[in-house]
Amino acid sequence: MTVETKTFIGPSDIVALDFECTKCHSHLTCGVMELDRWIDGICGNCQEPFIAAYEKAYYKEFVSSLQGLIKPALKRECKTKMRFQIKVIEE
Ligand SMILES: [Zn+2]
Repeated sequence: MTVETKTFIGPSDIVALDFECTKCHSHLTCGVMELDRWIDGICGNCQEPFIAAYEKAYYKEFVSSLQGLIKPALKRECKTKMRFQIKVIEE
């Protein structure tokens, strides 16, 4: 028998983003609305920038888009109920 679990999240369920240092693999979890200041952030463990210079433009756009998606949901301005389905891999 195969059991499939479907998991759904709405925009307001996204509360933080986790960064992993590419050098020492330390993690930093940052609230979605505070992400702007971490684009230029460095790892507290090894001082490596969390985001490489050549990727900053992509992440700035990503953060802006993500915050634009979430802000109306937090203010309950959206009447349409929309949820993401996420893949859960069980090992
Ligand atoms: Zn590090």
